[in-house]
Order: sequence, then structure tokens, then C-alpha cells
Amino acid sequence: ILAALTNAFYLLYLFSNSKILMSISQSLVYIGFTWLMFFFMGYIYSYTEHIRKKIPSTILFFMAVLNNVIMILNIFTECAISYEIVQIGNDMHLSSSYKLLYIYHLVLNYSVVILFVAALVVKTVQVPSVYKSKYITILGFIFGITVVNAIYLYTSLMIDISLLAYGLFAIFIYHYTLNYSPKSLVKKTRELVINGMTDAVIIFDTYENYFYANQSAFNLLGEEIKNYSMLEFKDKKLKHYDYSQLFEMYYGGKKLYLEVETAPFKDSKNRIQAYYFILHDITDRVEKIEMIEYQNTHDELTNIYNRRYFEEEARKMIAESNEVFYVVTSNYKGFRLVNDMFGSEAGNKILVATAEYLKRICDKMNLLYARMDSDKFAILISKADFEKTSFTDILTTSFNKITADIPTELKFGICEVVGNDVLKAYERSVMTIHYINRVYNQNVGYFSTDIQEKSIREQELLLDLDSSLANHNFEIYLQPQVNSNDESVVGAEALIRWNHPKYGRISPGEFIPLFEKHFVISKLDLFVWEEACRLLQKWNDGDNKKLSISVNISAIDFYQLNVSEVFVKLINKYDIDPSRLKLEITETVFMSDQKKIIAKIKELQEAGFTIEMDDFGSGYSSFNTLKDIPIDVLKLDMKFIEGDINNEKTIEILDSIVSMAHRIHLSVIAEGVETKEQSQLLRMMNCELNQGYLYAKPMPVNEFEDYIKTKSIKSLIDYWNHSYSDKEIFSSVKELHRCYGSSPIPMVILLPKYDNKKQLEDIVVFYCNSAFAKMEEIDIQKIIGQSVKQIDNPWNDSMYPLIEKLLDGENDVKQIFDRKNGSQIHIHAYSIKKKYICAVLTYL
Ligand code: C2E
Ligand code: CA
Ligand code: CA
Repeated sequence: ILAALTNAFYLLYLFSNSKILMSISQSLVYIGFTWLMFFFMGYIYSYTEHIRKKIPSTILFFMAVLNNVIMILNIFTECAISYEIVQIGNDMHLSSSYKLLYIYHLVLNYSVVILFVAALVVKTVQVPSVYKSKYITILGFIFGITVVNAIYLYTSLMIDISLLAYGLFAIFIYHYTLNYSPKSLVKKTRELVINGMTDAVIIFDTYENYFYANQSAFNLLGEEIKNYSMLEFKDKKLKHYDYSQLFEMYYGGKKLYLEVETAPFKDSKNRIQAYYFILHDITDRVEKIEMIEYQNTHDELTNIYNRRYFEEEARKMIAESNEVFYVVTSNYKGFRLVNDMFGSEAGNKILVATAEYLKRICDKMNLLYARMDSDKFAILISKADFEKTSFTDILTTSFNKITADIPTELKFGICEVVGNDVLKAYERSVMTIHYINRVYNQNVGYFSTDIQEKSIREQELLLDLDSSLANHNFEIYLQPQVNSNDESVVGAEALIRWNHPKYGRISPGEFIPLFEKHFVISKLDLFVWEEACRLLQKWNDGDNKKLSISVNISAIDFYQLNVSEVFVKLINKYDIDPSRLKLEITETVFMSDQKKIIAKIKELQEAGFTIEMDDFGSGYSSFNTLKDIPIDVLKLDMKFIEGDINNEKTIEILDSIVSMAHRIHLSVIAEGVETKEQSQLLRMMNCELNQGYLYAKPMPVNEFEDYIKTKSIKSLIDYWNHSYSDKEIFSSVKELHRCYGSSPIPMVILLPKYDNKKQLEDIVVFYCNSAFAKMEEIDIQKIIGQSVKQIDNPWNDSMYPLIEKLLDGENDVKQIFDRKNGSQIHIHAYSIKKKYICAVLTYL
């Protein structure tokens, strides 16, 4: 409308014949033109989604208003354009001439044009190519107007046709942007979408001939579909498709799952226009579902069925059959140990091998089997099949192959399924395994009510731990540790006893492993340790002060407690010497995370506690592992030296353990000593600390206190602590042993002993080689730890000045002594860290 009005004013201007008419119509043309440009700008801004900035827009608006004012004023003042009547030939003409203010009008209009052209150019650059034509068309039009304008300006045309062009532009832009959407754009977009689809689209016309297919269709079904009729297409390409299920096809060797959607296209009058097929590739989705299904029913590690599948399938199978079924469960005894010793990768290998064996056996017999949980595998088998095939024989012979090289036994628990309760049968089979785990050499067990009762009892015992601690139902028994030579007592081992309110006295052999298995042992151990410290504090006078107590530490304690902190707190609380507390650990402590445990044990040693390796020989240990483990005492269990003590082999084993221990400077204490023969043998082997029924059974504390009144008390612990604590010296001694151990040169290492006033009191033989023993005609075992006074002259008094010299700081001294038998002996002695004396001798 505005464009039409402006053009109308221009016509009026062209035909005006008076000055006033001319100036009015021209002003109106300029006003109209300015607003026309403004509308363009607004329109194009919204068309290009250009974000308008408020301030520049407002400024432009006021400039336009000012322009209007100027144009209106011009009618009266001719301030921008002046009009004149000129005579050309005979005709009178009106002519206009432009003044400075007119430039204002021009600048305003052209800046508006520049602004919206710029907006269009920016948009054209930004949009995806299919949309560019939307903006380019308009730009083209504006360019056209510019050309027209230029023609007007640079030729002597009388009439400004660009104004007409602007008018047409206004109409065009209105129509184009509102009603006209370019066909090519639609077509392009459609093609892009359809060809870009992963779904294959095939269209057949009303005559059922091929009409169209997108790129995915060609990729999937081949170009030849172009030559197919609809019938041929269905026949050749959708052969297996039955319109109700998924359609599977192979493409490039890969199995694809397709969902086919097909229907006729109909027009508004319901006439068929075409038929379409959309093949929707849902392979990913199906594979995902299949995978989830697989994961839900299979075990990740071994790839056989898992517990969930087993339970569901077993229930189904039992419901469909009227036979009696068994659940047979296998379990590795001490599998955790296997993992700890050989690493979890080795453990996994064993499990995978087990699964393979199981698969081989069960697939052949068509049995249901699964990995139920860590190292437990289960099989469902009918009673008839079980008996017919003597199934356990099959299992044990097969599985023996797996366990041949690993320190574990495979145990089988068997339980009948009652009703349809597969889970219960499984749990009972596991219960059975736990039960036979304790029975040596029994690998197969059948569930019985007896086992159930035992399991219930275990549950009760676990539940009763806390209340029994609170009610003082636990009591410490003490078993003396004695010197086998004179039966003098050096201390005792604290052993726990449970006076259970329901079951009476229960053996620790029953509840300790149970508490360890359920990780609650530490509560009990803390109680025992504290009781032991209380007793040591109580035995504070006279010889009693020399007594020590050994307490047991479970492997679990190292994980659940800060053991060294606990013990340090205890000795501080009860104000006792740490050397009086001996800590018994077993080899299982080192099974996992050896480095960490070793560090913890070193902490305990540094704090002054004595570490004893309990039950030595029972596990998989060897002396080889002992060299890395910081312990002070080996506790040798006589139970492990099976059978006849007079047996040559038994003696040899014992002897080698004891002498090897001494060689690496460990003390040895024998426990479970039951007979005089045993004690004699041990004495011969220089293992003088004993513990066992031969001397006394574990007894209540008050009985023990009575017992020690009748015995002499010695502190061997002091001696141990003194001589075996300085590891640095040990390495020197070890080195000397390496050099002189089997050398023909006689050598002896002496340990000075001091009295309370730090005066040299005695000199003890710490070590000597066999050459020395031979020359002095003494028994090595007897002399070690004994005073030099027991050796022939000059080992007693004349040695003292020599020793004192060395202790005063001299590195080595030499001296010749006369012996009783008239011969002479040349002694060359060194000090070892001013604490030990090493003497090398020459008998002259
Ligand atoms: P252990 O530490 O090896 O303790 C020695 C066991 O051998 C004790 O059994 C003791 O009574 C028994 N015994 C002692 N002398 C003889 C003998 O001459 N012949 C025979 N056949 N046996 C003898 P007990 O008291 O039944 O303890 C069994 C195990 O329970 C202990 O074996 C120890 O591992 C554990 N235990 C006992 N008390 C505690 C405790 O307070 N804490 C922890 N963690 N474990 C404990
Ligand atoms: Ca013990
Ligand atoms: Ca023991």
C-alpha cells in the first residue's frame, strides 16, 4: 500500500504544474520512500531472523521522523529542495534544485538499504546451501533495483523508474516470503532426508512397478531392485519374511535384523497411488537385547549359565517332570588361598577350566549346570541319572585333573530338591560342603539333618559372640611354656575358652575358624590381648616378673585393626615391658599383601614385641619364605611331625628344621609335646622351650598361678631379646658363619653379659664352628648359649682383659695363652660393633 501511495505521489509530482503542488507531492514521495525503506528493513530483519539492536533502531527511527519534518518544512521554506520556474523555449517548466539538507535524506535512505542488504548477505553465508536461494533471490532483486537506479542517475532519464521498481519489490517480497516456497528446496530437502535415512525406502507405482528407492535401499538390497516388480521384490528380497516377525538378512556377511513396514499410499479419495516398503534396520537394538539376555543368563568369566538361569530353568524342568532331582554343587576348598598365593588370574583360569570340564560332562548328558557364585558350580540331575551313571565318580575323576597341580581340594555337596525349591536344595548342598570341608579326605557329602543342625548351631554361635563377651562367658586358659632341661617356666600361651550358656564348654577349634570366616574374630582377640596384659601387670613381683604370655593374632586382625597401635596402647595402659608379650602369627597372615604385613610386623618388632611363627610346617611355607619374613621365634607343632618319633625320617626333619632355624638366628619353641621321647629329642636338638600336655594342659588362670608357685621361673625371653634383636649384628654373624662355618680354622663368637652395674659378668658362647668344637672337644649344641667358663682354660678369667680392651674401642687384639695340657693357643679377636667378639684361633 505504501509503495502504491508513493508511486501515486510520484505521478502527481510528474504531472504537477504549480510550484506548490510540485513541492507537496515531492515531499510526500520522499516521506513515503523513507518509510518504505523502513518497512523493508523491518521485514527483512524478521525474515533473516536478524537480532535488532534497540539503540541503533531508535536512532534510525528519530532520523526518519526528522526527515519527515524537513520534508514538510520544505513545502514552506524550500530548505532542502527549491523549485523554480524556468523557460525552455516557449514552454515554462518547473525545475527543482537540491540543497544540503537533501543529502541528509539520501544518507538516511541509503544507510537503511545498506543495513538490510548486509543482513541478507550475512544470512546467505550462514545458512545451509539448500536455503541460500531464499535470500539470494531477494538480494538479486535489490541488485536489480540498484541497476535501475544507476541507469536513472547516469542517464538523462526524466522519470525515476527505480521508485517503481521499489514498489514492485515491495509486492514481490510480500508474495515471495509469505506464499512462495521454492519447489527445489522442498525437493532437495526431501531427497536429502530420504537418502540420508538408514531405513531403506522402496516405492512401487499403482501398476506395481518399481518407482523409487532411496540410497539405503540400494545399499541394502542392490541396484537390481530397480528392475523388479513388487511381486518379484517380495519374492526375491523378502523371501523369509512372514509379516509377523523380524526379518533377518545377511548384508556384507553381517546378520541384520529388519522390521518391514508396508502399506499402500492413498489419496484424499482413497484411491491407491503407490505402495511403499520401509525396511527399518533394528540390528543394534536386537543385538543389544540379545546381549542383555545373554548377560542375564550367563556368567561373565566362564561363559556358562549363571545362577539366575539355573534357578529358573531348574524350576521349569522339575515342574515338567515327575522325577526326583538332585542339586550337585562343587566348591574348591580354600580357593581364596589359591587366589592369594597364585594371583587372581590363576584363580580365574582354574574356574574357566572347571567350567569347561563341566560343560563337557553335562552337555553330553544333557544336564543343566551353572556357575553359581565365585568358585561354586551347580548341576541339576535326576536321581535316576545320578545313580545310573555313578555321577560322583565321573565328577571326581574329571576334576582331579584340574586340582592336580594346585593346593586345593574339590568338594561336592549333594541335596535332593524337595517340592520345587531349587534354591533351598542349592543352599543345603553348600551347607554340606562347608561341613565336609572340615573332614579330611571326604570329597562328596549328602545333605542330612545333622548338617543342618550344625549349620544352625554355627549361626547361633555367631549371634552369641557379642552377648557372651558382655556376659564374661569367655575365659582365658594358660598353657605353660617350659624349659625342657629343668622344667622351669618361662611363660604361657593364652588360649581362649567359651562357656556357652546353651552348649556349655566349646572348643576354640570350633568357633575360632567360624569367627575368622565371618570376620568377627578381632573382637575376641582384643579381649584376649587385654586380659593377657592385665595378667602381666598383675605378675609384677619377684620371679613372676620374668613371665611372658604368648597371644594369638589372626590374619584378619591385620586387616581390621591397627595391630601395632593396639599393642603399644595396651603395654602403655598396663605399664608392661613389651618383651613379655609374645605375638603368635601363622603363615596365612602373609598370604596376601605380603609387603604391607611385613611392614606392620616390623613395626611391632621395633616396638619391642617378640614375633612367633605359630604352627610352623602346617602350611605351604618353607625356609625360603622365612628369610623375607621378620620373625624372632619359630613355633614348631609336634602334631605335624606325624607318626613315630623314633622314625629316622621324623628325626631328620625335626633336626633340620631346628638347626636351620638356629642358623638363620631364630629361636625354636616346640608345642604339642606329649611324650618324654619327644622332649628328649628336642633337647638334643637344642630346642629347649617346650609346650604341651607332657608338662601341663591349658588351665584356668588361678590354677596356673598355683602351678608356677611349684616351679622355678626363668626368663629366656630376656636372653632372646638381648641376643636376637640386633639385626645388623646378625648380618655380620651370618657373614662370619658363611666364611668359617665349614672352615678348618677354629672360630668362636662370644657375647659379653653384664650385671646390673654394667660390669662384665659373664661371657657366653654365641656361635662356634665345628673346627672349634673339635679342638675344644665339646658339643656345639651344648656350649651355645653357655658361659665360656664351661670350656677348658684359658677361656675363663684370662679372656676378660682381652674382651675389655675390645669393648673399650680397640678393633682387634692378639694374645697367646697357655693351656692346661701344655699347649698354646693364639687368639686373634675382633669386636663386632662393640657388642660381640669374634675370635679366630690357632692352636700351637
Ligand atoms: P594353637 O595356637 O596352635 O594352640 C595350640 C593348641 O594345641 C591349643 O588348642 C592347645 O590346647 C593344644 N595343645 C596344647 N598342648 C597339646 C598337646 O600336647 N597335644 C595336643 N594334641 N594338643 C595340645 P586349643 O586351645 O583348642 O586352641 C586351638 C586353636 O584355636 C589354637 O591353636 C589357635 O589357633 C586358636 N585359638 C585359641 N585361642 C585363640 C585366641 O585367643 N585367638 C585366636 N585368634 N585364636 C585362638
Ligand atoms: Ca598359638
Ligand atoms: Ca600352634
